[in-house]
Amino acid sequence: MTYFRAVDPFPLESAEHTKLHEVYTRLASGRLATTRCLECRTSAWPPRGFCGECASDRFEWVDLPGEGTLHAFTVQETGLPAGFQGPRVFAIVEVGEHRVFSVIVDADPARLAIGQRVRLTPIRVADDPRGNARWLPAFTPP
Ligand SMILES: [Zn+2]
Repeated sequence: MTYFRAVDPFPLESAEHTKLHEVYTRLASGRLATTRCLECRTSAWPPRGFCGECASDRFEWVDLPGEGTLHAFTVQETGLPAGFQGPRVFAIVEVGEHRVFSVIVDADPARLAIGQRVRLTPIRVADDPRGNARWLPAFTPP
């Protein structure tokens, strides 16, 4: 089981119910994207349907780098929900100008270090209510 509700910004929402569904489409092709305000050019993470700086609801999608830097992480070894295999690594990854709350996969937690480079490796999670695939950002050491 790979579904991490805590790092899911739009749980179970389909393209008919959120204009931010594009984030899943791009993740499916291996790209992490977010929104940028068309009025004041502010970029946000997570993606936003309206700007927190100027309240405009006009935005465009911009791709973020496919690599980031491990800013902070914590390892969960016990208390995992049934069906989850531990340990789980939750992390804040600096990607461009943003800090993305995410998970580190395919890594030995003992070998992780603050400041190391990690690369995007999207993980498929629960489908939306219409059965369309959804993805979340995850990272792994290079
Ligand atoms: Zn704005």
